[in-house]
Amino acid sequence: MSAMYRAIEVTKPGEFAAVMKPLVDPGPGHVRIRVEACGVCHSDSGTVEGAFPINWPRVPGHEVVGRIDALGSGVQGWAVGQRVGVGFLGGSCGYCEFCRNGDLVNCSNQGYTGIHSDGGYAEVMIAKATGLVRVPDDLSSADAAPLLCAGLTTFNALRNAPAKAGDLVAVLGIGGLGHLAVQYARHMGFEVAAIARGSNTAELARKLGAHHYIDSAATDSAAALQALGGAKVIVITASGGKTITETFKGLRPSGVTIVLGVGPEPIESSSLDLIFGSRKLEGALTGDPATADVTLRFSALSGVSAMIETGPLDQAANAYAKMMAGKARFRMVLTMEALR
Ligand SMILES: [Zn+2]
Ligand SMILES: [Zn+2]
Repeated sequence: MSAMYRAIEVTKPGEFAAVMKPLVDPGPGHVRIRVEACGVCHSDSGTVEGAFPINWPRVPGHEVVGRIDALGSGVQGWAVGQRVGVGFLGGSCGYCEFCRNGDLVNCSNQGYTGIHSDGGYAEVMIAKATGLVRVPDDLSSADAAPLLCAGLTTFNALRNAPAKAGDLVAVLGIGGLGHLAVQYARHMGFEVAAIARGSNTAELARKLGAHHYIDSAATDSAAALQALGGAKVIVITASGGKTITETFKGLRPSGVTIVLGVGPEPIESSSLDLIFGSRKLEGALTGDPATADVTLRFSALSGVSAMIETGPLDQAANAYAKMMAGKARFRMVLTMEALR
C-alpha cells in the first residue's frame, strides 16, 4: 500500500489543487477510510468559497463512501474492511448537553466534514467513529454517496414530520434534494405534490412518484395546494425566501413547512397564518448516523436512488463547477477507481 495518496485540496477561496498527501494513522476514536466515492454537494461551497472560517488548505467533500483500512485506539463496533459512509456531521462527542439528551445532530463539539476536517475529495480520509454510517451491500458506493447528505436530509425531515400515510405532502423544488424528497415521500405512503417552475419538470416529477405537479410559474402554488385540501407538510428544497413565503399559505391547519434549502433571502410569514391554524415553520439539519443507516437501508429496500453523474477524482473542480452552475442532473459523484 502506497505511503502517499491523492487528494483535491482547496488552497484558498475558489482554488483547487491536486496534491499527494502522506498516509497517517488514525488517532484515538478515529478510523482511516479508503474512499471509493464522494458526492459533490452544494454545501461544499461552504469550503470552496470560504463561507465558513477554513484552515487552508482543506479537502472538501461530505458524501463519502469507502472501506475502513485502519482503526485508531478505542474504536469499537467497526472493523477493518467494512464499507462505511461519512456525511456532513463529523461525529458527536457523547458528553455535551445535547448528546446527553440524545440530540446528536446539535452536538456542540461536532465538526463538519470537509470544513473542520478533511473530507472525501481524496483517496483516503480520517473520520471520527461516532459519525460513521453503515452501507448495505446492495448499494454501490457511487449510489450510496449522495444519500449520505441529500438523501439523509430529505428522508430525516419527512420521517420526523407529523404526516401520516395518505396525508398530502408537498415538495418545493425538484433538484438535488427535491428529486429525492419526492421519491421518499411517495414510498412513505403520502399523497405527493411536487412544485417547481415551468412545465418541463412535470414529467420527471411524475416519474419520481409525484401524484400532482404544480407549476409555480403558471399557478398560485398555495391555492393549488389548498384546492387539494392543504398540505400537512411542505418540504422546501429551493432557496428563495419569497417562494417559501408564498407556498407557506398552502399548509392546512397544524401543518408544518420544513426548510432544507439554504439561501441568503429572509423568510417571511404572517403571524395570522402561523397563529390561526397553528402552523409551523421550521428548519432541519441533515440527521444523525442512526437515521443515515435507515436512509440507506430504506433506499435499498424501496429502490429510491439519486440520479447521478460520475466522474474521476481529478475532475473534481469541473464537477463542482457544474453543480454550482445548476447543470448537474442531479448529483455529481467523484469515484476513485480510475486512479487505482
Ligand atoms: Zn456532543
Ligand atoms: Zn451536503
